[in-house]
Amino acid sequence: MKRLEIEKKLKKELDKERYTHTLGVMYTAAALAMAHHADVEQAMYAGLLHDCAKCISNKKKLKLCKKYHITISASEKRCPFLLHAKLGAHFAKKIYGINDTEVLHAIQAHTTGEPHMNTLDKIIYIADYIEPNRKKAPNLNKIRSMAFVDLDKAMLNILADTLEYLREKGGELDPLTMNTYKYFYGKLN
Ligand code: FE
Ligand code: FE
Repeated sequence: MKRLEIEKKLKKELDKERYTHTLGVMYTAAALAMAHHADVEQAMYAGLLHDCAKCISNKKKLKLCKKYHITISASEKRCPFLLHAKLGAHFAKKIYGINDTEVLHAIQAHTTGEPHMNTLDKIIYIADYIEPNRKKAPNLNKIRSMAFVDLDKAMLNILADTLEYLREKGGELDPLTMNTYKYFYGKLN
């Protein structure tokens, strides 16, 4: 599907707030791609579709993952919201006709991150965190400007703040997020 067609469909699939966030991520990802000499088109498609499976109930997410033989980890079972990344990559391919494996991978990796993320993966992960409609995260201004200079440094700061947030709130921590943090910590230290 063409980008404008996808936008139209997503406007119906997502609630208003999620749709606004989606456009914010798409344009922020485009700007980050420009700053880091990455492919702007890929960044826009991945940003546009990253949350395409978000506005589905947890029960239905689990059901759809079983139906499409998508593996469900222990932490995803406890916290099915995490599955919107894997399910989103599946929808992007099957419903929105995206065949670019790098775009699909960036969608899949956007929630937990993963070690050895490539430039596009990092751009989407970071755009999701810093897009203009986000307001509450600590150090947001610092991380926003950092993102346009050094993707790895921005990743490490976002992951550190995310771990801290989950610790405080007692939220479900996917082991992959911890591994991703360790990876970037090792890379930068
Ligand atoms: Fe998401
Ligand atoms: Fe998002």
